[in-house]
Amino acid sequence: MSTPLLEVRDLAKHFPSRGGQADVQAVDGVSFDLRAGESLGLVGESGCGKSTLARTILGLEAPSRGTVHFDGQSLGELSRKSWKAIRRRMQVVFQDPFASLDPRQSVLSILTEPLVIHGLFKPRERRLRALALLDAVGLGAQHLHRFPHEFSGGQRQRIGIARALALEPELLVCDEPLSALDVSIQAQIVNLFVELRQRFGLAYLFIAHDLAVVRKLCDRVAVMYLGRIVEIAESEDLYAEPGHPYTRALFSAIPVPDPRAPRPRAAGLRGEVADPRERPTGCAFHPRCPRAEEVPEARCRREGPALLPRRMNANGPARTMACHLAPAGQAER
Ligand code: SF4
Repeated sequence: MSTPLLEVRDLAKHFPSRGGQADVQAVDGVSFDLRAGESLGLVGESGCGKSTLARTILGLEAPSRGTVHFDGQSLGELSRKSWKAIRRRMQVVFQDPFASLDPRQSVLSILTEPLVIHGLFKPRERRLRALALLDAVGLGAQHLHRFPHEFSGGQRQRIGIARALALEPELLVCDEPLSALDVSIQAQIVNLFVELRQRFGLAYLFIAHDLAVVRKLCDRVAVMYLGRIVEIAESEDLYAEPGHPYTRALFSAIPVPDPRAPRPRAAGLRGEVADPRERPTGCAFHPRCPRAEEVPEARCRREGPALLPRRMNANGPARTMACHLAPAGQAER
């Protein structure tokens, strides 16, 4: 098998608390691979650590533990020069298209700045490159000399995406890139992400709370709860049959266009997500889990489940899941 484009192993990011309280374990032991050209969705409730995970992978936060490899290179061991070279290959699209663009820069300046920083192209060629980028995101030459305040939210996000594409990256980390946009605009930007991935062979790490969007954009989905991944599966399999009790609860909230259509059985959740400074013992989901009582000897309260390969039925496709309950049709390991 070829080397994954991105390898994340046991990655953790803990933030110190004030007043002698326990650290905030925003991300705590996350591992996954992302192949070249693959799109992986990262979902979970607000505060589950998705954005911190993305920032730690990108090197915007120093990890408390664990490693990130990009195309086989350990990011923790890179010199400044090597980091700059890697940065070209992994770019980010931020949530807020209003805050992520400098209001004093024209579109031309925004799109050519990464090329100047990396010493790419001559000045005239940079202008042509900016025009090509605008064309790729559905804008035109008439937008080149305008400033961010002259654009709508959707257009600004298009400019943010064009800037992220300027250096021809292989990986785009998209941190809730739709959540600040009007619903009517979101569908257009989703289609743009689909089109750009096909055209440029991009890999996506796509963070979103809209599960319908993730289904459309992602080959696989990782579900996070309180800083850890609790389930990873192919999108098709996960949406057809969510496995982990938390995934089932989360997915039961997806709006269904046809109310008579079958949908995953909703498991009612108790209470709120725990404070990450006071992580529950054992399985962190146990205070809310509707199935914890099915596991004998209060094991869910005592022992955290490992992320293990599972099948929902004997002949079904493999997925990984962290739960003491073995799916039907599969003996517990
Ligand atoms: Fe629920 Fe126990 Fe599974 Fe955690 S390990 S998800 S508490 S059944």
